[in-house]
Amino acid sequence: MTQDVSLQVNNLRVHYHTQDQAVKAVDDVTFSLYAGERLGIVGESGSGKSTLALALMRLHKPPAKIEGGEVILGETDILKVNREQMRQVRWSEISFIPQGSMNSLNPVMKIKHQMSDAIKAHQQGWTQQKISDRISDLLGRVGLSNSIADMYPHELSGGMKQRVCIALAIVLEPRAIIADEPTSALDVVVQRVVIQTLNDIQQQLNAAMIIIGHDMGLMAQSVDRLAVMYAGKMVDVSPVSSFFNDPLHPYSQLLISSLPSPDEKRELTGIPGMQPSLLDLPSGCAFHPRCPIAVEKCRQQIPPLRQIEESRRTACHLVEEKLR
Ligand code: SF4
Repeated sequence: MTQDVSLQVNNLRVHYHTQDQAVKAVDDVTFSLYAGERLGIVGESGSGKSTLALALMRLHKPPAKIEGGEVILGETDILKVNREQMRQVRWSEISFIPQGSMNSLNPVMKIKHQMSDAIKAHQQGWTQQKISDRISDLLGRVGLSNSIADMYPHELSGGMKQRVCIALAIVLEPRAIIADEPTSALDVVVQRVVIQTLNDIQQQLNAAMIIIGHDMGLMAQSVDRLAVMYAGKMVDVSPVSSFFNDPLHPYSQLLISSLPSPDEKRELTGIPGMQPSLLDLPSGCAFHPRCPIAVEKCRQQIPPLRQIEESRRTACHLVEEKLR
């Protein structure tokens, strides 16, 4: 089955330049985002997932620098367009809900004025009535009543503020949306409301969506495919059901075995050790010091991300042995 690709990322590399060396925060990352799908990207802090999100929007700041690769949106490599062209693409074609976005709302402006500014920045010539109708439509889409348009951010709960940020991200009905840790700092019940809002929006717009996070339980319920990042690399990409039922990569296996299961009584196992510093990566497979099945080859050679089944790719030297 051929699927339309909304966003194609090829060999993307983003480095942080320090005085002494270049830190490879995103190292040769390649993936496709299909039209209408929800792709989750998970990884521990420092695995490069937020740097990846910022680079996809070209919102990264020095010392981060894109060293190479392609980010193809539709027909256009957005790493090659000039700043003004990128400004037009951003929000209209691809939009972003940054980490902690609810704290970025202006505390002294009513919600309707913040939304109206966002609309006017892209839709010159709209009448005030048309803008008010659009604000009301956007608030309705994220499950908020029109009355909150007249409120200030401090009058809203965390979940409501996050839904306002989602409304701001879809002002121009983009074809791709990236949400970086959209549920952080929210309680469990509100997290589910926010994820459900994102899912509803994604379906209404038939947009492709990337949700970045580390809550595997939330991901299991909300995405179609899951990609795992480790030490700047994408190491496992799989449909979510295969990922949880039959994980291929040893890191994914450990991530899953550290999750409690309501159906099964089993001992929870943590992942030994810590993610390595990007300033001092181990040789070969960066996961080898923590991997329970590492062999000598793992210490010497970096495993490439290889296609294992039609819809699965994994970076592990020993994956064939698992499949045998
Ligand atoms: Fe473990 Fe080796 Fe596979 Fe890396 S390549 S995940 S160290 S078995």
